[in-house]
Amino acid sequence: MDTSSIRKLFPILSQTVNGYPLVYLDSAASAQKPTEVIETLKRYYEQDNANVHRGVHTLGSRATEAYEGARAKIAHFIHSERVEEIIFTRGTTSSINLVASSYIRAICKEGDEIVVSAMEHHSNLLPWQQAAKATGAELKYIPLQADGTFSIEDLENVITDRTKMVSVSHISNVLGVTNPVKQIATIAHKHGAVVMVDGAQSISHIKVDVQELDCDFYAFSGHKMCGPTGIGVLYGKKAYLDQMEPIEFGGEMIADVGLYDSSWKELPWKFEGGTPIIASAIGLGAAIDFLEQIGLDVIEAHDKQLTSYAVQRMKQIENLKIYGPEEGRLGLVTFNLGKIHPHDLATVLDTYGVAIRAGHHCCQPLMRHFGASATARASFYLYNTEAEVEKFLFALNKTKDYFKEME
Ligand code: PMP
Repeated sequence: MDTSSIRKLFPILSQTVNGYPLVYLDSAASAQKPTEVIETLKRYYEQDNANVHRGVHTLGSRATEAYEGARAKIAHFIHSERVEEIIFTRGTTSSINLVASSYIRAICKEGDEIVVSAMEHHSNLLPWQQAAKATGAELKYIPLQADGTFSIEDLENVITDRTKMVSVSHISNVLGVTNPVKQIATIAHKHGAVVMVDGAQSISHIKVDVQELDCDFYAFSGHKMCGPTGIGVLYGKKAYLDQMEPIEFGGEMIADVGLYDSSWKELPWKFEGGTPIIASAIGLGAAIDFLEQIGLDVIEAHDKQLTSYAVQRMKQIENLKIYGPEEGRLGLVTFNLGKIHPHDLATVLDTYGVAIRAGHHCCQPLMRHFGASATARASFYLYNTEAEVEKFLFALNKTKDYFKEME
């Protein structure tokens, strides 16, 4: 992969921050946008802007065509069997909430079980906590091993015939490890449970084939895959989406409205009440074109190589603790440096133009498992280079020296 040519396609990367060239190592929180995505948004607003599914006029038709065209691109990108299995949402959080609020609340009752792990992002925990409270179902946790991962044996021991839902991340936003979703789905299905996958961190780094994984639901966000903010996707198998009631009611999602009762449109529109997130959906379509042009296998290889390069180099820094298992990290490294608070660390790194994330990463249960209140995280994407990793290391060493002098 020619990273230097790719970098030129991302205008934001050519700036300096605090007098240093920007080193953006926070793509796991939100990825940067290539010119083509920015231009697509601009073109849409300058030439085609109109509401969708309503206007018989030319702009309305163009907007509708582009919006539904983006849906078709997404269906192709994740290999869903049908285009109507793609629901536009605000992002991963909204997608998981939709399933928890609609599907789970309709099918779960007291004595049933929802299974998650303490590795999960809050967006893949809180919706299930709320659904469990509302239905009387039990929220069960797959026990974590010391390195924060869970074993398939432990997962098998937790799932029972009362389990209705198993929800796991595809790639953890703290550990960077890939969970064996296909294997998890096979086990869950044997017990009659459905499987939801939080794909927020995987969708940008690896090829996702929902039919091959045989997951029942898959959620992801556009902004982590070079697309705009405010747009995301819920993929669901038609059989489940058909059973689900909408959770937002109003314009756009109806077939017929009476004074006391109404009926809904068919899939996917029954879940897209109100004016949809038109421009961002079209921008996400452009992001998918961009990623497909480079190729997800090429991106995965680059991100894997760069992550392991960073890990090897970081291991040479004294008192730097890396969280998670030894092997299998993709796209990110979570760490602490001595007793330096990660917020202080990130603040000093910023003075060298290096952007990393610090905090609990919306994973407080996992932080508690590690006995840490917060950690730092560097994340890598297709536009990052080994030279940037070196700048990051230089800044880490400078930070270390700075805090040593303060002791
Ligand atoms: N799950 C994981 C694993 C994530 O990394 C994130 C984003 N940090 C989310 C869910 C939530 O995504 P969003 O804020 O785009 O809804």
